[in-house]
Amino acid sequence: MGEVDGNDAARLAGRLIACRSICPEDDGAQAVLQDRLVRAGFEVLSICREGIHSLLAVYGERGPLFAFSGHSDVVPPGNESSWSSPPFQPTIREGMLHGRGAVDMKGPLAASVVAAERFAQRYPAPELPFRVGFLIAGDEEVLANHGTKDLLAVLKERGDRVAYCVVTESTSQDVLGDMVKVGRRGSLVGKLTVRGLQGHSAYPHLARNPISLALQPLGELVNQAWGEGYEGFPETTLQVTNIQAGTGAANVIPGEMTAIFNFRFSPEFTAEALQQRVEARFRVHDWDWTIDWSCDAHPFMTPAGRLREIAAGAIRSETGLETRFSTTGGTSDARFIAPTGAEVIELGALSRMCHQVDEHVSVEDLNRLSTIYFEILERFLRHQEDGE
Ligand SMILES: [Zn+2]
Repeated sequence: MGEVDGNDAARLAGRLIACRSICPEDDGAQAVLQDRLVRAGFEVLSICREGIHSLLAVYGERGPLFAFSGHSDVVPPGNESSWSSPPFQPTIREGMLHGRGAVDMKGPLAASVVAAERFAQRYPAPELPFRVGFLIAGDEEVLANHGTKDLLAVLKERGDRVAYCVVTESTSQDVLGDMVKVGRRGSLVGKLTVRGLQGHSAYPHLARNPISLALQPLGELVNQAWGEGYEGFPETTLQVTNIQAGTGAANVIPGEMTAIFNFRFSPEFTAEALQQRVEARFRVHDWDWTIDWSCDAHPFMTPAGRLREIAAGAIRSETGLETRFSTTGGTSDARFIAPTGAEVIELGALSRMCHQVDEHVSVEDLNRLSTIYFEILERFLRHQEDGE
């Protein structure tokens, strides 16, 4: 096991990096986390669904559940020989912890575990007016997302839910704590199929060209403005990402075409509203078309309120910074947690090195991030004690 020197968070991060946890492999990463959380007094439920290991941990006996959400899997390292040191051998060089997952997200995840250990050591469970939890998925980096979804289902079966959540994805831009994500756009995919009639390009009147039919409405949908904008979210956009048609011959009108398009949309819209608008545009034609829809992320936003204030205060006290709240970027497991009614923010280390060769994170930043997480818990405690 590749032990590294440095602070507690970096040491734990190093132990996690040493596990080659490329989903569905876990390589002991979940067991390392489980062991630490059990020792800190957490009740841990480890689940394995279709070979994917995930865990739910809870500390405390009553009150709302304040959870950290993370993932123990990492993306593949790519060509290992292009790394300065082996990706699954944690190494500290010039104050930086190197290894796959250092930033995304074994480093920040370790920082949150160490913060929770400190918190549990200081505050005995029976006296706490809220519960501290962890939802740690083993499959965030792949599409399946069994982990967080299944853990949320377990909570639901218990009649429980996450009330407040800090996702430890890396969100900082230039310095630690300068950005907190408070929402994300949704993602909606449509697959349009237009069926025409195959024929000779010299005799188009004997054929029905599905490409010619679809081009105009697709072009309009791509170029139109979607909505007025929503509370600082990037605008809602539609991009065509795939088009397929044609036999390969230049003189054959194809019988069918398919186009895949992807909406990234703000909470100004629901997926259903967008679907209806697109279908309305195609319905004016009497040709043979269908659209299959899939929405893999609904948009969310955590409004100004307690969790935002507490996080901003904790960041200010550790770094002196006024953090920015942002809704930019792709998706994270927050998309599953927010719809259950939780206030969700994302806060982690500098995101620049995510998924890169020679991924690394500042050891000092991990330490400070752990302090920020700890401070968030303490501030939340004071808030609960002051009464809602
Ligand atoms: Zn991640």
